[in-house]
Amino acid sequence: MTDFLVVGGGIAGAAAGYFLSRHGTVTLVEMEAAPGYHATGRSAALFSEYYGNPPVRALTAASRAFFTEPPDGFTEHPLLTPRGVVALCPPGAEELFEQALARGATAPVPAYEIGPDEVARHCPVVRRDWFTRALLRPAAADIDVDALHRGFLRAVTATGGLVLTRARVHELARDGGGWRARTSAGDVRAAVVVNAAGAWADEVAALAGVRPVGLVPRRRTAFLVDAPEDAGAWPMVCDVTETFYCKPESGALLVSPVDATPAVPGDARPDDLDVAIGLERLREATTLPARRVRHAWAGLRTSTPDDVPVVGPDPAADGFHWLAGLGGYGVQIAPAVGRALAEAVAGERTAITGMNEMMAAGRLLS
Ligand SMILES: Cc1cc2nc3c(=O)[nH]c(=O)nc-3n(C[C@H](O)[C@H](O)[C@H](O)COP(=O)(O)OP(=O)(O)OC[C@H]3O[C@@H](n4cnc5c(N)ncnc54)[C@H](O)[C@@H]3O)c2cc1C
Repeated sequence: MTDFLVVGGGIAGAAAGYFLSRHGTVTLVEMEAAPGYHATGRSAALFSEYYGNPPVRALTAASRAFFTEPPDGFTEHPLLTPRGVVALCPPGAEELFEQALARGATAPVPAYEIGPDEVARHCPVVRRDWFTRALLRPAAADIDVDALHRGFLRAVTATGGLVLTRARVHELARDGGGWRARTSAGDVRAAVVVNAAGAWADEVAALAGVRPVGLVPRRRTAFLVDAPEDAGAWPMVCDVTETFYCKPESGALLVSPVDATPAVPGDARPDDLDVAIGLERLREATTLPARRVRHAWAGLRTSTPDDVPVVGPDPAADGFHWLAGLGGYGVQIAPAVGRALAEAVAGERTAITGMNEMMAAGRLLS
């Protein structure tokens, strides 16, 4: 018998396990051999308080302190490294640009407009005739996703909990006052279940007879191309119409065509056409030859219908909690949503701005 059963070992489940381990024993079950195998291990690893709708931005801002000052012993690596984002305005997108600029101006470190010379100083390969205006989001940073994920999981086992891999939950039923899960690694009984199953979270809810929230997984493609030696210092470059982005990654350039193709839960694979579109957009916006793709992958970004994560107790199922629908922001908001989830499980009010009101509004956070 464990206090908390967390289903899913991605960043959501790991964060839930980390914060819950302060309140009792945690058993985290992950169906794959490696807990970061799905969305968590496939992200672009950006932390940006300029990104997403207002609740997501609030959750990102509420996560910053954990990233910059993690608890003692959490990790030996800096969790954030300055990166910055230059957002370009292609001709005709001036209205969208104004909106992005206005939104960016309200961030904790405001975004601001920069001229073409400054764009060239940040990233010399951007074509001057490709954009009419540009803005800089100075406080965006790279996340060490692996260090964050491992730090969360380590705390689960260090406090006497278990992280079970190759342990797929295939049955979930009430058992006395709690729950019993049948998994491929054996049965687990728990007082509380946390559904952190990413793209599969609605399927896990259905196993427990809990109403799904209408999650939609969408495939996003990314790939690596060769980059000049000095590219490591470039910011991420994107455009305000969201047709592509690129950012330095391990001596190469990570590129995405910002696709969002509805998909079923599963092991997402990159589509050749999406990769070709990404290459074409990179060549149009920059002078990079971008001929060879070193490696391509795809992952699922899973959202609720209004793109606000679902965090906290299910109103109709006692002891069943959600931490899902983290969309394209799951890594950057993990500290805040993990903490809020654990506080909700423990029956505490959370100190995260706006979160109690959102949870009390009926649909948890979404
Ligand atoms: C290309 C791309 C770029 C991205 N860029 C960023 C970014 O820059 N910044 C950012 O913050 N976010 C980014 N994201 C989004 C981020 O990756 C996700 O929001 C986050 O990883 C979701 O975490 P999760 O734990 O909910 O899901 P997952 O990592 O998918 O974890 C869910 C886990 O549940 C397990 N599971 C499912 N069903 C069961 C079951 N029945 N039993 C046991 N285990 C089960 C799965 O195996 C899986 O490991 C990006 C995503 C993609 C695809």
